[in-house]
Amino acid sequence: MKTIIAKIQKDNELENKEIYRRAGEILRGGGLVAFPTETVYGLGADALDEKASAKIYAAKGRPSDNPLIVHIADKKDLYKLSSCVNDNAVRLAQAFWPGPLTMILKKADIVPASITGGLDTVAIRMPSHPVAEKLIKEAGVYVAAPSANTSGRPSPTRAAHVIDDLSGRIDMIIEDDTVDIGVESTIVDLSEEVPTILRPGYITEQMLSQVLDSVITDPGIMTSVKAGVVPKAPGMKYKHYAPNADLAIVEGSMEHVIDYINTAVKEKEKQGFKVGIMATDETKDRYKSGMVYSVGSRKSEASVAHNLFAQLRAFDQLGAQYIYSESFSTDNVGQAVMNRLIKAAGHTIINV
Ligand code: AMP
Ligand code: MG
Repeated sequence: MKTIIAKIQKDNELENKEIYRRAGEILRGGGLVAFPTETVYGLGADALDEKASAKIYAAKGRPSDNPLIVHIADKKDLYKLSSCVNDNAVRLAQAFWPGPLTMILKKADIVPASITGGLDTVAIRMPSHPVAEKLIKEAGVYVAAPSANTSGRPSPTRAAHVIDDLSGRIDMIIEDDTVDIGVESTIVDLSEEVPTILRPGYITEQMLSQVLDSVITDPGIMTSVKAGVVPKAPGMKYKHYAPNADLAIVEGSMEHVIDYINTAVKEKEKQGFKVGIMATDETKDRYKSGMVYSVGSRKSEASVAHNLFAQLRAFDQLGAQYIYSESFSTDNVGQAVMNRLIKAAGHTIINV
């Protein structure tokens, strides 16, 4: 299949209109379109067309029990997709939509079980990225969209990542590298008694607690499946976000971390391996060998979130066989960063 790659132009409304028209037509016709959102790139299909969403699973190599998030462009569509929109959902939609928050609610009958992994709940989000919003409106359908990467790889934050993974397997990629946040949406389950965060993201528990009477975080989020706590979002149990290299997180006081990584890298390079170091603006000059990159500033969790997946993919491009990453703050969006990084490392954390 030839994949159309169409770039949104800053000052060419006419050409952009044609891109949305074409993409909308593809979605209504049961095809696949990748598009930017404020979190990561999504791979979209008509959510109510089972044949179309089956193509998402095939293109990504995604396990069929891992449900999709349905994207809408109008808050009222919540009522079309869910039969039990409760007070909490209304409050959250008012406070955080459009934006990086996904809500889990009891599904309406029109939602096919094939996109909910057989569950009787559905995940719904209204994105704020203007390209996503325009595309959903133009298509006139609800858009089921997981991240636009091959299953298991780091999520795509740039069109080049989508092209690497899915070119030739999907109908169209809309390119607009203004993906800001860099980690996927916060998922909150509202189908239970107490609203529960199933996946951390830019919207934190603290932000949610200002709107909800109570909210808790699923204990499966930061711990290992091996520890016996199985996360409730089906997708969180899979190996995820992983670069080709063997990734380890080194945790401890900054001085110990830097010393450990310097010694480990020297050893690995002596054995002939290519080694990457994921450092920060504040620490990058302290490493003596290896491929050293700053993923952001320790003063800004958002900068690390923004660059995390792109940096993991960059190490792949460089042919890294081992990556040592510093550990980052879990404040604010930092919790989402560490959640993704721990999964990417397959739970390999070295305490020094
Ligand atoms: P992705 O779009 O690739 O970020 O994946 C969507 C995430 O949402 C996965 O982790 C899914 O397991 C989760 N998800 C989607 N629908 C549901 C649902 N009904 N219940 C729990 N988790 C869900
Ligand atoms: Mg994903």
